[in-house]
Amino acid sequence: MDAYEEPDFAARRAEMVEHQLRERGIRDARVLAAMGEVPRERFVPERRRELAYADAALPIGAEQTISQPWIVAAILQALGLRGDEEVLEIGTGSGYSTCLLGRLAKHVVSVERHSSLARAAAEALRAEAAANVELMIGDGSRGVPDRSPFDAIAVHAAAPAPPPALIEQLAEGGRMVVPVVSGKEEMLTLLRRRGAELESTAIAPCRFVPLIGAEGF
Ligand code: SAH
Repeated sequence: MDAYEEPDFAARRAEMVEHQLRERGIRDARVLAAMGEVPRERFVPERRRELAYADAALPIGAEQTISQPWIVAAILQALGLRGDEEVLEIGTGSGYSTCLLGRLAKHVVSVERHSSLARAAAEALRAEAAANVELMIGDGSRGVPDRSPFDAIAVHAAAPAPPPALIEQLAEGGRMVVPVVSGKEEMLTLLRRRGAELESTAIAPCRFVPLIGAEGF
């Protein structure tokens, strides 16, 4: 008789960290450690668990996706978190990146516009005992002004330009990562606030779902 064998997720996770992240330039030791620990399979819909560690984005419902592991790592690495930051995340989606941010920073406020996704994310995050993350439902393109400033802001949906409301909510020295669309190109972009100046660095070409909202599409 053939017994169903649970895939060895821990081994797949270790392989993902090695081949998809480390070998492709992710160097931040805290990011590599966190991604080696958080069970990505818990954040993927049951029937796609088998693919949890694939080198790709996966559908999570409501026409949205959980981002490819490398893209999640690139965002986290660019934020340069040390553990004492207040973080704002736009686009909770599955809650996977939220869980990682919770491990890498002091506190996370995460906003998702689809309540069905936010509910599933809340459940997965509870199972992971992520106590320092707070989920909100709504249009995150305006940010959360009454909780600002934030030391780091992660935007997981593509915007026509870095949303001005989010820039305003960035603390001095703070960092924001946002995919910015220009024509047919889309670039994962790091912004750093230095006084009145905003320093911008291109990280990598990317492909995200659109940021839908007042300061999105
Ligand atoms: N970080 C997620 C990836 C989510 S994909 C993960 O690890 O699974 C991007 C998410 O952004 C989608 O769930 C989409 O619904 C959400 N989104 C798009 N526009 C938004 C907005 N204005 N405010 C909040 N969430 C938004």
